[in-house]
Amino acid sequence: MSKTSSRRAAFDILGEQVAPGTRAMLQMDIGKLYTNTPLSIGVEVIHGKHDGPVLLVTAAIHGDELNGIEVCRRLAKLPALDRLHGTLVLVPIVNAFGFIQQIRYLPDRRDLNRCFPGSEKGSLGSRIAYLIRKELLEKCTHVVDLHTGAIHRSNLPQIRANLEDDANVAMAQAFGAPVVMHSNVLDGSFREAADKLGKPFILYEAGQALRFDEPSINGGVKGVLGVMDHLGMLKSRRRSKKSIEPIVASSSQWVRAAHDGMMVAKTELGERVKKDDLLALIVDPYGEMELEVRTPVNGIVIGRNNIPVVNEGEALFHVAKFDTVREAAKTVEQFHEHMEDLNDPDLRHTDPWGERYDS
Ligand SMILES: [Zn+2]
Repeated sequence: MSKTSSRRAAFDILGEQVAPGTRAMLQMDIGKLYTNTPLSIGVEVIHGKHDGPVLLVTAAIHGDELNGIEVCRRLAKLPALDRLHGTLVLVPIVNAFGFIQQIRYLPDRRDLNRCFPGSEKGSLGSRIAYLIRKELLEKCTHVVDLHTGAIHRSNLPQIRANLEDDANVAMAQAFGAPVVMHSNVLDGSFREAADKLGKPFILYEAGQALRFDEPSINGGVKGVLGVMDHLGMLKSRRRSKKSIEPIVASSSQWVRAAHDGMMVAKTELGERVKKDDLLALIVDPYGEMELEVRTPVNGIVIGRNNIPVVNEGEALFHVAKFDTVREAAKTVEQFHEHMEDLNDPDLRHTDPWGERYDS
């Protein structure tokens, strides 16, 4: 007996019609290199058979932030997507210009994440931002944007979002990164454009630019899956028992270099620190100076500088404060244990070595 309920409509994106229960690898033209080579952004669309939200997952809006690209690649391989409720739109390399050059910015040194909402006739960044907003952002209902720390800086996996919005809070909780931070929306950011359109948006920061970091990548894969579970997009999936209750930071503070010199770090990312604990020494190459860098607050180190040569004023350690530091420290520890457990059903399917060893 045939069902009377109507079939889900095709997904209309980038001039294509993606039929329900199918996936398509599309290209969004963003211009040409000055070699006259056309340049496009790859957009993978997985349009489920069943109705549901449209989740947009973007990475490398800063062209040298690579972890998110690998998160998208592993997500696309998940068998659970065959029974998807809703639509998943993966854009692994938003800033293709920066990615090619292994830099954060666009060729004109603009930050694409400050070019929104963009315009059709503006600068290169403004034109790309305009296309992303019209062709991708306006077609989706929720956004997860994947980032890493800047060059020579690593971030402990963390979610940043406007926590005054309940939908963002729920997504941040569901993502399951150990730390969640409120952050105000920056002028010209992708997040601001989403905010203005009323689309819930969370930003994942993990690892550092130009490096792959397995715990950060695994955290990203598990995080997006958690958000999809929360949005009802993966109803029949066997859920991982290993989920993290993220701890919300009350505030955070950068500890800066009081002197130029070379930094000898004493503290690792994710470490719990007590007020006045020694974080590093700043020394000169000739052994005449040894200056202690101490934390002015209790908290967890959620970001750090990795290059030993530092100038006065340079940000060295990012310390997040919590109402319950002990809880936060436990959560960070738990997160790292989970991310190394490749028997976790969330990670087993996406482990790049898994298939090889299983066969
Ligand atoms: Zn970034």
